Amino acid sequence: AGLRKLLLSRIRDVPDYPQPGVVFKDITPLLADHAAFSALIDALAALCVRHEADKVVGLEARGFILAAPAAAKAGLGFVPVRKAGKLPGATLRQAYELEYGTAEIEVHADAFQPGDRVLVIDDVLATGGTAEASMALIERAGARVAGLAVLMELGFLSGRDRLAPALAGAPLDAL
Ligand code: 5GP
Repeated sequence: AGLRKLLLSRIRDVPDYPQPGVVFKDITPLLADHAAFSALIDALAALCVRHEADKVVGLEARGFILAAPAAAKAGLGFVPVRKAGKLPGATLRQAYELEYGTAEIEVHADAFQPGDRVLVIDDVLATGGTAEASMALIERAGARVAGLAVLMELGFLSGRDRLAPALAGAPLDAL
């Protein structure tokens, strides 16, 4: 409960960003506060251990900021899932629907060992489209999803319901 309060106190609501009517959850005050940021990284690292992950995936771009230190602290390697066209090696690509249009993400084809258990980390779970595509990509790359961990879940968008089939019983933790 103390962690939850601390984290919430460092997230700023920005109205009408990136478009009118949207209230954006800005995590930069949290990142700038050592007590809150280190408590968050500790909690994410503990989830890596609890869910017996072999690798940690971060989703571009804010997911990188959280997943990389959590992976290092848990004694695990980090794998970036990036927007299409950014990774230099052979990749797998996954398209997904946005509110307007589509987006594509990629992972290196050789990022995982067969059967690796992967914990996926991002900052915010909104509709769940990004996380859903990432989990499909991870499975296509021969690994298994050990869980999804986010700083914040926007419950009114029902991402958790959308992700239930893809999670197939794997835990979804929102700190
Ligand atoms: P979804 O695919 O679940 O609709 O959107 C989640 C993605 O969009 C995440 O990668 C997240 O970083 C970003 N996102 C959506 N809304 C917000 C928000 O209010 N604050 C932040 N920090 N990221 C958001």
